Order: sequence, then structure tokens, then C-alpha cells
Amino acid sequence: MLYRLAALLLVACSTESRLATAQLKPSETDALSKLQAAQNSVACSATEASSCAQAAAKLMPIILGDSPMIENLRRLSDEVGGRVTGTPQMTKAVRWGVAGFRSAGVDVVTEKYTLPVTWKEGATRLIITAPASSGAANAALRAVSEGWAPATPRDGIEAPVIDIADGSEAEISRAGNLKGAILLAHADIGSTWADLFNEYLRPPRIIARAVEKGAAAILWTGARERDLLYRHTNSLDGEIDKIPQAVVAREDALRLSRLVAANPGQVRLRLSLPNEIGGPAEQENVVGEIRGYEKPDEAVILGAHLDSWELGTGALDDGCNAALVIEAARAIKAMGVLPKRTIRFLLFSGEEQGTIGSHAYVKSHNGELDKIRAVVIFDSGSGRVSGYSLGGRTDTAGALRQILQPLVSWGATNHTADASFGTDNFDFLLEGIPTFVANQEIANYLANYHAASDTFDKVDQRELKMNTVVAALTAWGIADRAEPIGKRLTRPELDTLLKQTGLDVQMQLLGYWEQWQAGDRGRQP
Ligand SMILES: [Zn+2]
Repeated sequence: MLYRLAALLLVACSTESRLATAQLKPSETDALSKLQAAQNSVACSATEASSCAQAAAKLMPIILGDSPMIENLRRLSDEVGGRVTGTPQMTKAVRWGVAGFRSAGVDVVTEKYTLPVTWKEGATRLIITAPASSGAANAALRAVSEGWAPATPRDGIEAPVIDIADGSEAEISRAGNLKGAILLAHADIGSTWADLFNEYLRPPRIIARAVEKGAAAILWTGARERDLLYRHTNSLDGEIDKIPQAVVAREDALRLSRLVAANPGQVRLRLSLPNEIGGPAEQENVVGEIRGYEKPDEAVILGAHLDSWELGTGALDDGCNAALVIEAARAIKAMGVLPKRTIRFLLFSGEEQGTIGSHAYVKSHNGELDKIRAVVIFDSGSGRVSGYSLGGRTDTAGALRQILQPLVSWGATNHTADASFGTDNFDFLLEGIPTFVANQEIANYLANYHAASDTFDKVDQRELKMNTVVAALTAWGIADRAEPIGKRLTRPELDTLLKQTGLDVQMQLLGYWEQWQAGDRGRQP
């Protein structure tokens, strides 16, 4: 990490002047001469001596120098705060995005779509009501409603609690009659990207079984330690979920589990989720644009989501990358050179409800999808970028490596050919458009994921700036190279891709498969 910083400062300085090579250490002069050699030889494209090395040299001092990005992010996270799609805070965030692009000197519009339902948590309460003989009776447990969970009746649900362990099929059968019960499902502490995927992939089947067996509600054991509360949603279509659900602070959930084990069949709870449900409501994506000079009707999208959950202030997820997108626009504009193709800078809303905003964008731009050349998404906090997830493709890897060649010493070129659901590239991928999702080090992302602790102070400002250079160069390079970075895949090619990457299984688990099969979502057969 220190090496990266040293190399970076050197690069930034070298772009301003030929400074004092004599004062540099041998390793530093070596790095400098490598950079100069790279500037002379690197192209964005195989057929054309081009702009990527020059662009990198221009972007670095603009982004790494005096920049409004961090103050922009502070305003979004501290002053707008948590911004759930459909709430007044989301409207303020859209205004923040529009103002950010305007002051970057970039054209900006907002594009409307309809969110099916609005949702707001009420005063969630979870109380142990029995056994009366236990000293724990009347104890309150720390809990929050899952997002887009239905409300309980006004005075709550009073019911026995059944511990279903990890919620596997075997555990659910072993638990017997679940009718009218509040289920407690366990989870390990999340520490890897795989754990995070499981937080989304595991619940749908448990929910389906709970509904089938007539359970009254589900409690999810918190996957973060130290009583940290967080929420996301298990309803990924913007509609209200099928059964009341809450996340219980890990330590409280484990206490409850021990209480159930010590008092078999006797522990009861009262769960109140007076959630406020309204809607439908008109929402907006924010779209900044720099028009290309040669092929203005062809576009490259650089995007992040502007919405967040509201227990914290959505700084890591995904405020820092919303600020990154605006900063990349400012830097490309400030270079004073236009790209061949148009670059669109997208701030999506509705991501946390199941990529509703990006899905709406794809639907409303249906007529121009042949001309959207690529979609680049940042949505994993401020950990160092190691490369991009190529959305199940390998045909785009070579061109991407050429584009990022000027940053090869940053280690940002270890691309992966995987594809997964989880952020705003999804509907573009299903349309066959090349997508690039930044692979980032976990850093402190998971520890604060969707939690009360996702706040401005968690953002690694230095890494965020360096990631912005990577993002800006990627968008620039794809927009400015002579050839498109990849073709639009056909439906049969996508069918193969989904199978090869296992994205088909994820889509089945998450409930998207039928829409794909029916031609309601993704490229038409
Ligand atoms: Zn996110």
C-alpha cells in the first residue's frame, strides 16, 4: 500500500513538471522513467495510437490535486444523510447530484420512473413475553424491520418463537409445525464477499417455506457483531414482502436462541413493525453527459447508486462512488478534450430495492441499447480497485487492459470473468451490453454494510481518489478508442453466458428467472 502511494505521488508530480529527477531515489527514477515510456507507447486501442496515457497524465493531477469530491461526499452523507428511495431525503440527494454535475460543468438531466411502493420503518419493538417465570420476561431485544417488510397489526404479533438454526431444509423439517410461530434464523458473521452474497441468496427459500407453513414472522440473526443493526430487503422487485421480518442485533439474537434452548416450547415474543407503506411514487435517476465529437449517439455509462439505507448515512454504500462519478465527470471535462463517443454519468436510485432505477433506465432507453457500448459500475465502498468483473465475458479483457495500461503499477488490472446479481449492471448485462463492475478490496465495507456505522468517517479518501482515476480512465478509454470494446451479445449467447457463470442459478434463487424466460426482462429471444 505504501508502495502504491509513493508511486502515485511520483506520477502526480511528474505530470506537472520534469522536476528534480536528481532528488529522487533510484527506485523512484525507475518508476518515473517507466511512466514516461508508458506515455509514449500506450494506446487505448490496438489500431490507433491514442489517448489513454495522455488522458491518465491529465486526469491524475486534476483528481489527486485540489478537488471538491470529498466536500461533496461530506454534504451528501452528513447533510442529506441516509436516503431511501421514495423518501424526501432521496429528493434532496437528487438535487445534490444535479448541483454536483452543474458545478462540474457537465450537462445534466433527471429521468423519471415509478417506484411501486414507498416504505418507512415505524417504531419497531421486540419484547420477550414468556415464560413469565423467566427473568428475561418483558426484556426488549434490539431489532429493526427489514426493508419493504409488511407492517404487523397495530399491537404487534404475539407468538411462540421457533429456532430454525440456519434455515436449511433439514432444520425446517425438524422444527415441525411452524404455523403462527415467529421463526429465528441464524447467520454467520459476514466477512467475505461470498458471505454477503449468501445474505441475499439464502433468505428467499426460507421465506417461501415460512409462508408455505403459515409462520407469522421471521427474525434474522444479525451478521455483524457488537449489536450493530443494519437492514436490506429480501423483496427484490420493489413490492412489499410476503411476511414480516426483522434483523435482531447479533448478541440479542444469540441470547434469545439460548433462552429457547433452555425453555423448550415456552418462549414467546411480541413483535411490532408499524411500518408506513404508501405509493406508488415517481422517482428519478440523475444523468450527466459529455457528448462525444465523432460518434455522439454511441454512449459509455459510468454509474453508481445515489440511494442508500438510512440507519447510517450511506457513505460507503454508495455515496463515495456517487461522488466518484461526479468527480470523474468533472475531471474529464476539465481535461479540455472531448472523447469520440458520449460518456454518460449515471446516479441511479432504487438500487437497494432491487436495481429498480437501472432497470427503469434500460427499459426507457430500449431503442438505443445497440449504441450503449459499455456500462461501468462502482458499488463496493472505498477499498482499492483490483480490476473489473467482466460480467461473464472474456472478449472485452484485452481492450480493457490496453485502456488501463497507464495504471498497471497500481494493480488495478486483475480482471475476473464472473457475473453475479447485486448492482446496477444487471439489466444491462441481461441486454447483452458489455458491463464492468469494479472489483474492490473489502476493506471496511462489510463491517459497516447497510449499518448504522456506514458514515463519512469510514471512507478512505486517498483510495477513493485513486479509484476515481481508474474510473475516469476506464470511461474515457472505452469512449475514445476507435473500436467498440465489445459486441452486444445475442439471446443465445446470453443463455450460454448465464449457464456458464451460474448466474442462472442466482436468478432462480432470487426470483428473476421466470421474467428472463418469459422475455419480460433482458434481451428478447
Ligand atoms: Zn450499493
